[in-house]
Amino acid sequence: MKSETPATGIMKKAEYSDAVWYEVECECGSKDHYHSIWVEADPDTKSVSVSIATESKTDWWSTTVDQNPRVDNEMVYWIWSWAAHILNETVRRSRLIWNILFRGYVKYDSYVILNRQQALNYADTLHKAVKEVDKER
Ligand SMILES: [Zn+2]
Repeated sequence: MKSETPATGIMKKAEYSDAVWYEVECECGSKDHYHSIWVEADPDTKSVSVSIATESKTDWWSTTVDQNPRVDNEMVYWIWSWAAHILNETVRRSRLIWNILFRGYVKYDSYVILNRQQALNYADTLHKAVKEVDKER
């Protein structure tokens, strides 16, 4: 298996003489999971740097109260779901606030899932981008 051109799952967002910007999408299809890659040559230090950014979200999947109650009445279900959502969101945010206030940091997990082809494309894109911006000097 070889890397592809154009590469599946890797999008070139912008290109400059000394820098290039890519976005790597997650295989699950969510726009919330991605890597934003910035490869840049610095003429002053004569080095190339690669920045990989991800966006972190709250642990929105965690629940204190079930948001899908087993009730037949549609009105009761709707009110219960709404109240449970508000409560769950309040608990999640309160935990974050508590951790920042008393620990000074918050821990996040962030994932991007790549299939085999994408992983090869990712590696090759990084390899090519570093070479590309490096030859500018
Ligand atoms: Zn994902």
